[in-house]
Amino acid sequence: MRTKFKAYTSKNFHEIEQLKNLSPGTLLRMEAVAKVLPFRTNNYITDNLINWNNIPEDPIFQLTFPQPEMLNETDLQRVIKLMQEDKSKLNEEVRRIQMKMNPQPAGQLELNTPSHEGAKMKGIQHKYKETVLFFPAQGQTCHAYCTYCFRWAQFIGIDELKMATKESQELINYLGKNPKVTDLLITGGDPMIMKTKLLRRYIKDIIESKPGSLKNIRIGTKALSYWPYRFTEDEDSDELISLFKEIIAAGFHLTIMAHFTHPVEMDTPEVKEAVKRILATGATIRCQSPVLKHINDDADLWVEMWSKQVTMGMIPYYMFVARDTGPKGYFNIPLEETYEIFSSAFSRVSGLARTARGPSMSTKSGKILIDGIIKRDSHKYFVLKYIQSRTPELVNRIFLGNYNSEAVWINDLEPAFESDELFFESGKQYMLLEKGIPDDEFDDEYAFA
Ligand SMILES: *Cc1c(COP(=O)(O)O)cnc(C)c1O
Ligand code: SF4
Repeated sequence: MRTKFKAYTSKNFHEIEQLKNLSPGTLLRMEAVAKVLPFRTNNYITDNLINWNNIPEDPIFQLTFPQPEMLNETDLQRVIKLMQEDKSKLNEEVRRIQMKMNPQPAGQLELNTPSHEGAKMKGIQHKYKETVLFFPAQGQTCHAYCTYCFRWAQFIGIDELKMATKESQELINYLGKNPKVTDLLITGGDPMIMKTKLLRRYIKDIIESKPGSLKNIRIGTKALSYWPYRFTEDEDSDELISLFKEIIAAGFHLTIMAHFTHPVEMDTPEVKEAVKRILATGATIRCQSPVLKHINDDADLWVEMWSKQVTMGMIPYYMFVARDTGPKGYFNIPLEETYEIFSSAFSRVSGLARTARGPSMSTKSGKILIDGIIKRDSHKYFVLKYIQSRTPELVNRIFLGNYNSEAVWINDLEPAFESDELFFESGKQYMLLEKGIPDDEFDDEYAFA
């Protein structure tokens, strides 16, 4: 029998059987947080991934349910008070708190959006030479929301569908005119939320016209974790699997960029079956996730995660540093600790799992890897390098930042020597290298999915 999708949000989460053991006070606090931050989970997650004897600590509970500590106590109490006493002022207060939490400011997308004959091309982003990102309009939501997602502004309607497009023709024209582009990344939200019919409409045009130098099609998704039935028993799963085969038959490499945050997401029979079906099409699956406090800040867990991925035939890809938006303070880990988690895990897996790269910060100017922490003449330094950049000249060149035990992001670090300034956004030479390209307001719009 087919499992029917049921979403739980702040409106109906009281129906979740397993929550009935929580005190009314706790439920109220969760509901208050859900007024401010997006909340959506589903029946696959509640029935298969959460150990209800271990809440609130359970990592998947942390991953998809609002936690009172995600807001500061003053804000939380204010929201609760308004919920109970003066609903008319609630929306205003909620918006005030949201704006304080660094949602994507309006206009930030503009500069990464290529224009074609003067018109901005909605739903297309081109930041790195080889890869174009494509945001189909109907793929801008997900089967559940990660509590750490930096796209949360979009989910609560501050930034609604700004990046979405309904057209593939514009994309095809763009790829045709930009022969340096080899990769197309279809992303969201989660494009796997779309019915196969719709996805096919976008993809068919692309694989038929073979625009420019396009070789690789990637689909970013968390559906393997949040709704593996998408690939197995949903009404149009078989059609989806056929579509994957068609992409490959047309001569493209297809890779699913899977977002796995925790090893339990890889343990169910459902996900194992989904992975098998995808791999049987000839597609590959590459896996990525940020590292987060309360969820996966533990080297053993990453050893387990990468090892399982390899055993299941998937390829470990990126470990990200959590981004600075939303309830980030809640998930924050100092860069040093992030680096230690990565190194400790990396040192304990075989070469097959050492395809993982990280920890990597997705910054305005590119992906910056923390490659080491070294001590020379009683000074400590962060060894850094770009693994992706708008400025290809900077890629794979080592640079140094002064050690700072509290740093959680690149902007907490300073160039160690004059020659390192080039690599920092504050550096003058950096601006020179960027000449011709607007050099601020760039934001990396790449979902963790
Ligand atoms: C990471 C990323 C890509 C893909 O980069 P790869 O290193 O080729 O995986 C493309 N666009 C953006 C904006 C990204 O952040
Ligand atoms: S991280 Fe990905 S799957 Fe999670 S809510 Fe954000 S876009 Fe959706």
